[in-house]
Amino acid sequence: MATNKSDGKTKVLIVEDEVAIVTLLRYNLEKEGFAVIATGNGEEAVELVKEHRPDIIVLDWMLPGMTGVEVCKQIRWDNNVKNTPIIMLSARGEEGDRIRGLDSGADDYMVKPFSPSELISRIRAVFRRIRPSLSEKTLEFSGIVMDLTGHKATRDGNDVHLSPTEFSLLKYLMEHPGRVFSREQLLDSVWGHDIYVELRTVDVHIRRLRKALNYDGKQPDLVRTVRSAGYALEENPDGANYKNDEAEAE
Ligand code: CA
Repeated sequence: MATNKSDGKTKVLIVEDEVAIVTLLRYNLEKEGFAVIATGNGEEAVELVKEHRPDIIVLDWMLPGMTGVEVCKQIRWDNNVKNTPIIMLSARGEEGDRIRGLDSGADDYMVKPFSPSELISRIRAVFRRIRPSLSEKTLEFSGIVMDLTGHKATRDGNDVHLSPTEFSLLKYLMEHPGRVFSREQLLDSVWGHDIYVELRTVDVHIRRLRKALNYDGKQPDLVRTVRSAGYALEENPDGANYKNDEAEAE
């Protein structure tokens, strides 16, 4: 099982072959409270992403062997990690390069040289854009509102009663809407990888969460079961009852 959390810190993967830049970025990111892993090799970067599930990737375009653009494409093709935000770095500054970088699937693009503080600002901006939960006290998704300070949840204004575990589970899913998580990933992220819990436990809590969210028995199910993959929180405009398709992510 891949270890997923670094003491709750936001995990940054730096993919850069210039050692001096890695050292500078690592020092500054760690000072700001990020956990940092790094590699100078594109192939290894793809493996590290699968293994460590970083929260964000800082990816240099020019790498020996596989280029940053190729790394970016490979990550975007992999359903398990494709939503990981990527900031592409480049020594090039042409508008065409910028567009190619963003077209390959990067969320942002920075031209070297840049200051570490500028990169950190960009990282925070990407998170604000795609994971507003990191900077806000309330999470909202498709009628569900989570008050993280008051530890309360509502759906369409109706109270949803959740145990602390189901609250954490829902919070995690709402922080990454649309993203499919395996039961192993949910265990690592919600329960913590140092605790031994059976995979079936996740199914039990998902079932309870669905029940709690369906406060009057008439609500569309927003927790999708993805066969052989896991669970995802998704908009359900046609009101399909996902849980009737397949009960559990086996
Ligand atoms: Ca380079």
